[in-house]
Amino acid sequence: MKKIIIAVDGFSSCGKSTMAKDLAKEIGYIYIDSGAMYRAVTLYCLQNQIIVDKRINLPLLKESLNHINISFVLNAQTGRPETVLNGVNVEKEIRTLEVSNNVSLVSAVAEVRRAMVAQQQLMGNEKGIVMDGRDIGTTVFPDAELKIFVTATPEIRAKRRFDEMLAKGENESFESILENVKSRDFLDQNREESPLKMADDAILLDNSLLTIAEQKSWLMARFEETLNKN
Ligand code: C5P
Repeated sequence: MKKIIIAVDGFSSCGKSTMAKDLAKEIGYIYIDSGAMYRAVTLYCLQNQIIVDKRINLPLLKESLNHINISFVLNAQTGRPETVLNGVNVEKEIRTLEVSNNVSLVSAVAEVRRAMVAQQQLMGNEKGIVMDGRDIGTTVFPDAELKIFVTATPEIRAKRRFDEMLAKGENESFESILENVKSRDFLDQNREESPLKMADDAILLDNSLLTIAEQKSWLMARFEETLNKN
C-alpha cells in the first residue's frame, strides 16, 4: 500500500505526541518526536555549561553540534521510541521543567534548526512516517500528504502536563507549568527561524474538549480520507 508522510504540528503540551504515536502504532508507520531532538540538544547544552542562567554560549553551541548524536530506540515494554543522546537513553532527563524552560532558546538558533531539519528530512526519505513538532508541515515536509495543526487552551494544556508530571512523581506547581506553556508559545511563534504557524494546507484540530479516544478516531478518519485521495 502507498505510504505517506503525516505532519502533526501545534502548540506545546496539546497532546500532539500522544495522538501521533498512537496513529503511527496503529498504521505501522515510524513515529518521530522532533521536539525530543531539540530537548536532547538542550540537555547537552545544560550538561556542558553551554547554557548558564538562560544565556547561550553560541560559538560553543555551534562547535558542539558535531558532537551531538541523537537517535531513537524502541522500548520493548511500552512499544514507544525513546531518545538516545550520544549513546545514553535520556528519555526521562529531556522531560524535566529545566529542559522545558530552556528548549525554546536553543530551538531558535538557526544552526541548531538546520542540523535537526536535515536529520528529520533523512528520516522521511522512505515515507511511512508520522512526525510531530512545530515546523514539520511548513519546513521539514512542506509536501506532506496529511498535515494536522493541533491546539487547545493554555490552561487545559498546562493541566494535562501537570497531571502527567504528577503521575511520574514530579511535583511542579500548576502556575509554573502554565507560565512555561505560555512563554514557549510566545517564543515559538515569534522566533525568526521557522516560527510556529499553521501551514496553509493543514487541518486544524482544537482538542480542548476531546477525549483521547475521540481524537484518535478523528485522526484515523483524516488518514483514511488522505489515503483514498492519493
Ligand atoms: O514538542 P515539545 O514540546 O517537546 O518541543 C519542545 C520544544 O522544541 C518546543 O517548545 C520548541 O521550542 C521546540 N521545537 C521546535 N521545532 C519542532 C519541535 C520542537 O522548535 N519541530
